[in-house]
Parts: sequence; structure tokens; C-alpha cells
Amino acid sequence: MPKLLSVLSAAAAAALLAAGCGGTGATASDGDDRPVVLTTFTVLADIAAAVAGDHLRVESITKPGAEVHGYEPTPDDVKEAARADLVVDNGLGLEAWFTRFVAEVDAPHVVVSDGVHPVPIAEDAYAGKPNPHAWMSPLNVRTYVDNLVTAFSGLAPAHAGDFRANGERYRDELQRVHDELVAALAVLPADKRALVTCEGAFSYLARDAGLTERYLWAVNAEQQATPQQVAGVIGFVRANAVPAVFCESTVSDAPMRQVVAATGAAFGGVLYVDSLSAPDGPVPTYLDLLRHDARTIAGALTGRAG
Ligand SMILES: [Zn+2]
Repeated sequence: MPKLLSVLSAAAAAALLAAGCGGTGATASDGDDRPVVLTTFTVLADIAAAVAGDHLRVESITKPGAEVHGYEPTPDDVKEAARADLVVDNGLGLEAWFTRFVAEVDAPHVVVSDGVHPVPIAEDAYAGKPNPHAWMSPLNVRTYVDNLVTAFSGLAPAHAGDFRANGERYRDELQRVHDELVAALAVLPADKRALVTCEGAFSYLARDAGLTERYLWAVNAEQQATPQQVAGVIGFVRANAVPAVFCESTVSDAPMRQVVAATGAAFGGVLYVDSLSAPDGPVPTYLDLLRHDARTIAGALTGRAG
């Protein structure tokens, strides 16, 4: 019996060790000496990994399902960042915490949205500021890719050719997903082209697909919808006979459920924008996220189940 116990605990220890090495808790002693690229959120990590291929180790500070706007970095995050060779953030004000965070970190840092033409936020306290969710247009992410290819080529010049080839391949995929997304949403008739969501995170997607955007709040820092915001959206849904409304995976859908109860619009489903799902969930990659959202929106607004 004692022998069996010791075998079990050895197995448990091995499992713990393996778990530690596979995740972001990995240390320099795990035999992986590739340069470490630390990104701020899972969407960015996935895009960066597509460009990096096997040559770099790409990690995300926030985990799947986590809220990125108002994240509070932990002391472990700062320690993690001290091991990074490059820190990558979205910019456009997405990561409110990032300026303070990066001031404590020595690694060079690249802003992937540099060169994107921002869409300004229309309402709220944020009016006039750039909408940070530029990745919701795959066409913008071509700029992200170009910035990553340049930064990675500086970090690991021996692999510059591979980064360029990966980037070109990914750019082709972005164009394909953009075309799919526009085609999927083109079927909506003129009177069903309103996209009503919790956060105002879909300005770029709405622009690409020719939809009208309406939301409860502009940016997730203030997740509690005010009674005025809820009433405003209820009025819009009634006036435009909007058939379905949506909310995003990282916030509470309770205020949007109020809109549903007051208007009789359907709850059209969960959209993904600020985080990927877990690997076994519906949107393990950024390209999956775009396809999922286009399918969910088109399905609910045409009355077909997504
Ligand atoms: Zn957001």
C-alpha cells in the first residue's frame, strides 16, 4: 500500500510538472530557450503565434475568458514580463493598465495597431477617442501582421524569411475571412441591418459589413449599464423592430436580457471580441472568432438559428 501511494504521488508530481511546463508558468529551466513574446490578450497571442510559427514562444498575460480593458496585473505578471524578450500590446487605449505595467518591464515593446486608421467612439465619456477593437476588421489585422513581422525579424533575424512567409499566408487568410464575413452579412435585408450589442466593440465589423451599430455602453471599463443606456437601447430596438440583440462572452448579459424582456426581441447569442474561448470552446482561434460572430449575427437577424 505505501508503495502504491508513492507511485501515485510520483505520477501526480509528474503531472503537475508537465502542467507547469505547458502553461505560462514555464521557467527558463524547462529546456525551451526560444525568445519569449508576451502579449496582453488571447486574440493577440493567437495572431502573433500565427506569424511566429515555432520560432518564438508566444504567451498571453490575460487568460481565455478574461476581461482585458480593466485587468489588474499581478506581481506574477510583472515577474513573467521580466523574462519576456518582447512585449506586444494592441494600443488604441485597449489596455488601460498597460502604460503602468510596461514602465516596470525592461523588454522592448511593440504596438501592433500602429498604422491602423481608427474609428472614433461615437458616444459616452469616451466620445472622440479611438475605438480600440481594431482587430474586429480582418483588414486592419493585416497591419498587425506587418508590425509583428518587423518586430519578430528584429528579435530573431535568422528566421525573418519564415516570419515574412507566415505573415503573407496569414494575410491571405484574413482576406478570405473578410470576404466570408461580408458575404454572410450581405444576405440581411435593409431593415434588419442593426447590430445591437453590450459593448460598442463592433464599429470596425459594422463598417466592413455595412451594419448600423447600437450598444449599451462604449467600452467595458464601466460594465454596469445605466438605466438611461438600457432605456436608450430599448427605444432603438422598438423603433427599428430589431429582431435580435447580442452580448459578448466577457461581460454579464443581464442588461441585454432586460432589453429582450422589454421589447420581445430575441437574444441572438454570445459574441466573442475581447477574448478567445478555451481551446475546446467555440472560438479557439481569432479566425474562428470572426467566423463565429458573422454566423451568429447573420443567423439571429435572419431568424435562422446560428
Ligand atoms: Zn472590449
